[in-house]
Amino acid sequence: MTEHELKIWPDQFEATVQGDKRAEFRRADRAYTEGDVLHLMEWLPSEGRYTGRALDAAVTHVERDERFGIPPGYAVLSIEMVASEPYCTKCGCTESAACPGGCSWSTLDIVSGEGLCTRCA
Ligand SMILES: [Zn+2]
Ligand SMILES: [Zn+2]
Repeated sequence: MTEHELKIWPDQFEATVQGDKRAEFRRADRAYTEGDVLHLMEWLPSEGRYTGRALDAAVTHVERDERFGIPPGYAVLSIEMVASEPYCTKCGCTESAACPGGCSWSTLDIVSGEGLCTRCA
């Protein structure tokens, strides 16, 4: 299993979070294989920076057959979002990887999974 770190634009990020977008059309510049995980990091193309939001999606299928019109060197990846743990937006800690010495949630938005831990509040 390989984890691929990839940029994803805000519209696509949102659609993936909502569970609407379940496919990725990508240049196959990496050896994508079923079972791999895509670490999709939200990227603001206009500002040229990451937002800090990210999600993990498991690759359930890889299609690269040119007979279906997929250009050589490209692949269509079917993906399934991996339920991600809530995380602290300031330090990135999670419940399974808390701050050294321990922390808890000061605030937590359970929908977005974004919170602020007691060490950062
Ligand atoms: Zn924190
Ligand atoms: Zn923490």
